[in-house]
Amino acid sequence: MWTVSILEFRMSVRAVTFQGSRDALRVGKILCLGRNYREHAREMKADVPKVPVVFLKPATAIITSDEDIIIPPISGEMHYETEMVVVIGEDGKNIPASRAMHHVAGYGVGLDMTLRDVQAEAKAKGLPWTVAKGFDTSAPVSEFVPRERVGDPGDLSLTLRVNGEIRQQGRTRDMIFSVDQIIAYLSTIFTLERGDLIFTGTPEGVGAARPGDLLAAELDSFARVSVHVR
Ligand code: MG
Repeated sequence: MWTVSILEFRMSVRAVTFQGSRDALRVGKILCLGRNYREHAREMKADVPKVPVVFLKPATAIITSDEDIIIPPISGEMHYETEMVVVIGEDGKNIPASRAMHHVAGYGVGLDMTLRDVQAEAKAKGLPWTVAKGFDTSAPVSEFVPRERVGDPGDLSLTLRVNGEIRQQGRTRDMIFSVDQIIAYLSTIFTLERGDLIFTGTPEGVGAARPGDLLAAELDSFARVSVHVR
């Protein structure tokens, strides 16, 4: 008979959990928006997009507060990007914006860890961002707060502290594409499934994270993820 220990199961199945509940959702695909805040597009010297810039991370990129970010040896410059993360609760395809919120299970905060040197080289050569964005440990996430307990996801604060010092501060009202627009757009291309995550983009202030750093990200006062860099 084939069995696995709980530890092996946790390592092979990445899941997100909900505050104040024992519910967990197995993570499916992770869809991420690039340049969804004007000031971040500006600091990257990039155009403000007219349609969402989308990339993927695999579920194996997920870690939570009790794990470390590990910089792969191919990179000498890893950046943090603090983002509101949406977890999908109900499957859907071609979801109208007016129905989008019904497909959300909850909201959390995450870090879209990025190998900036690898990404810059990929951009210069017109190559995909997969390696720069999808490596193991590149997606630390908090526990999630059920949708019903979040007022307006379009007006929440995002804060990142590195070793206790504030490095990023933004508000989700500055997103170029709102959560309902993002869900409507993505679902015209990808079937959204229960357990899929959407990283909604970072405000300005991205910067390098180095071994030994403690990164602590917060969404308003209700979701928090705190991870060390190794
Ligand atoms: Mg990002």
